[in-house]
Amino acid sequence: AQTAPASAAVTPMMAQFLEIKAINPGYLLFYRMGDFYEMFFEDAEIAAAALGIVLTRRGKHLGEDIPMCGVPIHAAQDYLRKLIGLGHKVAICEQVEDPAEARKRGSKSVVKRDVVRLVTPGTLTEDDLLPPREANYLAALSMLRHGEADFALAWADVSTGETAVADVPAEALMDELARIAPAELILAPATAEALGTLGQALGRVVLSKVEPDLFESRKAAERIGAVFPLAEVDPTAFSRAGRAALGALLAYVGESQKGAPVALRAPAAERVAAHMAIDLATRNSLELLTTQRGEVRGSLLGEIDCCVTPPGSRLLARRLAAPLAQPDPVNARLDMVEALVEESRLCTQLREGLKAAPDLTRGLTRLALDRGGPRDLLSIARAVGAAGALAERLAGADALPPGLAAIARTLGDAPAGLAEALSAALDDSPPLSARDGGFVRAGFDAALDRERALGTETRGVIAALQARLGEETGLKSLKIRHNNVLGYFLEVPAAQGARLLEPEHRDIFIHRQSLANAMRFTTPELAELEGAIARAGQAALEIEAAIFSRLVAETLAQTDRLRATADALAELDVTAALAHLAGTRNFCRPEIDDSLAFAIEGGRHPVVEAMVSAAGQPFVANDCDLSDAGLWLVTGPNMGGKSTFLRQNALIAILAQTGSFVPAQRAHIGVVDRVFSRVGASDDIAGGRSTFMVEMVETAAILNRATQRSLVILDEIGRGTATFDGLSIAWATVESLHDETRCRGLFATHFHEMTALAKTLARVSNHTMTVREWEGEVVFLHEVAAGAADRSYGIAVAKLAGLPETVLSRARHVLAALEQRSSGTPAIVLDDLPLFAHAAPPPKPDVNPIDDMLDRIRPDELTPRAAIDLVYELKTLR
Ligand code: ADP
Repeated sequence: AQTAPASAAVTPMMAQFLEIKAINPGYLLFYRMGDFYEMFFEDAEIAAAALGIVLTRRGKHLGEDIPMCGVPIHAAQDYLRKLIGLGHKVAICEQVEDPAEARKRGSKSVVKRDVVRLVTPGTLTEDDLLPPREANYLAALSMLRHGEADFALAWADVSTGETAVADVPAEALMDELARIAPAELILAPATAEALGTLGQALGRVVLSKVEPDLFESRKAAERIGAVFPLAEVDPTAFSRAGRAALGALLAYVGESQKGAPVALRAPAAERVAAHMAIDLATRNSLELLTTQRGEVRGSLLGEIDCCVTPPGSRLLARRLAAPLAQPDPVNARLDMVEALVEESRLCTQLREGLKAAPDLTRGLTRLALDRGGPRDLLSIARAVGAAGALAERLAGADALPPGLAAIARTLGDAPAGLAEALSAALDDSPPLSARDGGFVRAGFDAALDRERALGTETRGVIAALQARLGEETGLKSLKIRHNNVLGYFLEVPAAQGARLLEPEHRDIFIHRQSLANAMRFTTPELAELEGAIARAGQAALEIEAAIFSRLVAETLAQTDRLRATADALAELDVTAALAHLAGTRNFCRPEIDDSLAFAIEGGRHPVVEAMVSAAGQPFVANDCDLSDAGLWLVTGPNMGGKSTFLRQNALIAILAQTGSFVPAQRAHIGVVDRVFSRVGASDDIAGGRSTFMVEMVETAAILNRATQRSLVILDEIGRGTATFDGLSIAWATVESLHDETRCRGLFATHFHEMTALAKTLARVSNHTMTVREWEGEVVFLHEVAAGAADRSYGIAVAKLAGLPETVLSRARHVLAALEQRSSGTPAIVLDDLPLFAHAAPPPKPDVNPIDDMLDRIRPDELTPRAAIDLVYELKTLR
């Protein structure tokens, strides 16, 4: 319906709409008309359905009704948030001239309009569109067939200016995307095609396909040079793929802001190998930043985030998503945390001080984009003030580790002069927007004070005028009032209005309006006074606007120092938060080196511990020693604590390499390069793959990618198929991890047969979750002990779950028979693996059919006839 106008019947406005729409394909066009953004045609249909607003019609286009819907300007942010959240992209089209100008050109001419901003999930800057404690990344993915790297990623959080570039080998691509978790990914159609269905695994990411031109590496160098000074960013320092990705990112961001200067920071060149590799499945299974339901609450981050500022929380999330893979930088972070653990009073004071530091980075970006207001300036002033106080507090402490000393220096270097200038100029609680004035402090500017006084005085004169006119006319109820339509006016009750229309008053009182019970007038004197107020108001507005632009310019001139201050504040917040956490939750400093140790004493699962202790129960701490390629096989009943134990060790490694203390008594970890965590998969029904297929794909990924430095955690792998298949695959997987990969690993299994592996594989050992039986009930002790589980206690667990007693007793019966039958034969012949190639189907339960039938008889429910039939049947069974 949106083809270019073919006939002259198209109205000028529709012609303008269609022209703008045609150059912004893929965007819903918010077309400004008065106090509304209107949408037409298909856009209107999409938006009306998405927003639940009314779809109407307006005029005709080529003989058809034009569907239309609109949102009021004042509520536009809410609707935008909804549309962006659903993955739509919006082009904001404003009136870019005064309607009076258009009228001058002729009655038929339309107001000039232009798109001033493209709003996409990855290019948001507005506070109310952004979650305060989460980063919002836009990423660009380039693919080169003949470059140094196959792929490169460039990504930026437009709201904070943070920017980075990394070359990414194909096999690490999905991990990197999982780490960065961009809100929007831009790529050329060919790249999207090469990714194929992998793209689907990215979940909520909005994929924006763009012109391949955007990724031209030669043009990229130009674009990079245009945005960053050569002294700061040398385009040739990146690979060709890296340049292409960064160039595309800059082009897309520039386009989205339609010429407003986007203040991106010089991109950091990141090395994939600097971080612990954690793939998407592992992130999900360990619930690092969010739970599997997508909530922060209940995730590792949710549990350990004690930051007192939003930028602190954002930095902690970033670190937790990318733990370090070298001992030195980890230990440098740990030194900082330890210093504050030991100085708990200092730590508390720093956290108090940090609470007074607002988020300055996002405000700074808005100011640079000319989208900021007085509150952003005041936040910057307050953050700088807080930085100064914190620097002083740190200066008073002795023997700071290098990291904290560097923070103290940076904070001390915050532009205090700027903060003073801002605080001196701005009111303590200024309005959000500069447009209506009223944010400059009284006493700051003499000329402004004069204009404001003039306005106030004139209002006083008007009050006096009311009294005088009341006297002169004898109308006691005469009032001077004000509204936005008439401005100032006199009002008298309708019954008395006629008096003012009489000749003696007619020269002075000019009739303006008659209402049912009042009449409104003005007088030359009142009009004069009103003019004076308006002039003073206008003059004051202009002075305030000038002061605002001057303050913005002064602030932006300090951008580099302000960003350094913001970084230091965020880092201090994270450090103090981790120290606070270590103190309140009894965490210890891990020993991190480049050995292959993995020795945890008294380890705990931070999230389960919090949950269990909230229920008033103790959490049972457990040791784990996988040093030098140890593999632990963990058996034990369901609900015994296997998963908890497995995951807690992965979480301890991740926390440690993030630079945090860990929930344990003691921990010695040789840096882990990759963590893999897999849980016997549930069906990926949406993806159309069976449980077994998912499991095998994931197991293959581990076997192909794990190294000697990796930590592998497999929870009941092989569950998704017939017993013997699953068992044999699990068996072969452990063998391969032991013999080939030689990694550290934890393996929980239901296959008791697997415990035989400990006999043949030197570094495999058996462990079990202990259980006690007490008066016929099982009690889970959650304690890891050496050895294999003797039974699975499945029936006891089923009883806890509330299975009916009839089913339970039947199950006991079948189990007893099964056990009796297998006790004669050797436990299992798995010591001889080859047997498995021709595995027989599992034996049928050997239950005496007569017993079975007798068990099932409910005498009270039998009719005499049925009882006789039964006796006959029993006889046949003998
Ligand atoms: P499994 O994987 O063996 O089925 P889980 O690890 O899921 O068992 O644990 C089941 C429940 O037992 C947990 O939700 C938790 O409430 C409790 N639990 C597990 N480990 C411990 C522990 N070490 N101390 C106390 N409670 C625990």
